[in-house]
Amino acid sequence: MKKVAIASLTFGALVWLTAPATANETQAQATVITTTTSTTASPSVAPVSLPAGFKFHKETEGLNQELRLRVELLLADPDNGGKVGLESAYRTPQRQQELVNCHAVHNPACPWPVDPPEESEHVKGNAVDFNGDLKLAVTLAKKYGLYQRYGDRDPVHFELDPNRAPMEKG
Ligand SMILES: [Zn+2]
Repeated sequence: MKKVAIASLTFGALVWLTAPATANETQAQATVITTTTSTTASPSVAPVSLPAGFKFHKETEGLNQELRLRVELLLADPDNGGKVGLESAYRTPQRQQELVNCHAVHNPACPWPVDPPEESEHVKGNAVDFNGDLKLAVTLAKKYGLYQRYGDRDPVHFELDPNRAPMEKG
């Protein structure tokens, strides 16, 4: 098993992501290595895998680091195959305000409710909107510790699941 990536997470632990030993394996194993700065990191994480040579998307810049890692893993999941895409991630307050204005005039380009910049989880880097196969997005979200926070009211919107398996809460 070869190590392909190290992700430093906000809670101060390191996750060593290991490539599958064979092409048939769909999930690699991950080990959390707790550092001295970590206080409550759990010893186990949801199974994750990153393809060798994996590069983070520019589009996920500005996200909370743990959310970013989980979103990247979801997008790269073999079960996804491009059916779920990233519509929106971190937004500047200016961009958020543009969306508020867009939604307010019932522009079909902005169908979903939009929080003002000071309340938006997107502006805080804590939310993403997916596009494409949203049913699959929900399934994959469960696998990677994300959840569809507002359900059908804003079906594209996902955040870190507060009840997700370990690897969180510093
Ligand atoms: Zn959203």
